[in-house]
Amino acid sequence: MQLLSRRSLGIFSAGLLLLGLAGCTATATTSAPSTKTSSTTSQKKTSAKAKTKAKPSAKPYAHWHTVKTAKVPILMYHSIASGNSLRVPAKQFKAEMTYLKQHHYYTLTTAEAIHVLTTKQVPQKKIVWITLDDAYRDNYTKAWPILKQTQTHATINFITGFATKKNHLNLAEALKMQASGVVDFQSHTVHHLDLNQLTDKQQLAEMVGSKTWLDEHLHQHTRVICYPAGRANKQTLHAAKLAGYQLALSTTPGIATSHSARYNLPRQRVTPGLSLAEFQQLLQP
Ligand SMILES: [Zn+2]
Repeated sequence: MQLLSRRSLGIFSAGLLLLGLAGCTATATTSAPSTKTSSTTSQKKTSAKAKTKAKPSAKPYAHWHTVKTAKVPILMYHSIASGNSLRVPAKQFKAEMTYLKQHHYYTLTTAEAIHVLTTKQVPQKKIVWITLDDAYRDNYTKAWPILKQTQTHATINFITGFATKKNHLNLAEALKMQASGVVDFQSHTVHHLDLNQLTDKQQLAEMVGSKTWLDEHLHQHTRVICYPAGRANKQTLHAAKLAGYQLALSTTPGIATSHSARYNLPRQRVTPGLSLAEFQQLLQP
């Protein structure tokens, strides 16, 4: 508990989320172990009993193995529609998700991607992290049915200030998608501004504001920030860490590895009209 508090303090050193920390400290105080040392024998007996009785705990990464360098192709999509270079038509998206399924790719959740990049433990050789930026409404109408059908997982980078805009996902839709288990949501700031054009204070506000909104409304600990248009300067990287994120996504092309800068990870852009052979190339470490 103490360790956890110390770690949290490090992350939120700006005094952010003081409330959460206060709660954590309070729990630690009330559940502090007794300092009595006289009942060592009976304690031993109890713990031996507990051991035999204990159910096998759910260790999600128990069967993952460690590699020298973990490589994660992070695919970047936006709208699932047609019309411009940022939109990938549903037909193409479906072909690509089907390709991943048929070629036995493991599609990572955000938590799993963080685990891979920070511990170098992987579930299998072929892995991919699918991301969709901006949380367009067609992610709900077009992408989600395909993700469910192919049982592939994707992360949607949500602009929290756009949750009431017509062409974007609203909270009810996001919650439904989250509950399906094939989608998780991370931050794409509050207003989708170029962060490198903002003051340090404004950058932090964009990152903390969106994190707080997502944490609260989606009942989660938001762990990843995606920089709008990939725009970031030195202060952006610092602010992302200070705001409590563990990873940050850029738009720089490339394969993310366990050696990459965690607050500026490269991604592979999926463009409309890509052939499956070209798509396959994007996945190659
Ligand atoms: Zn964006």
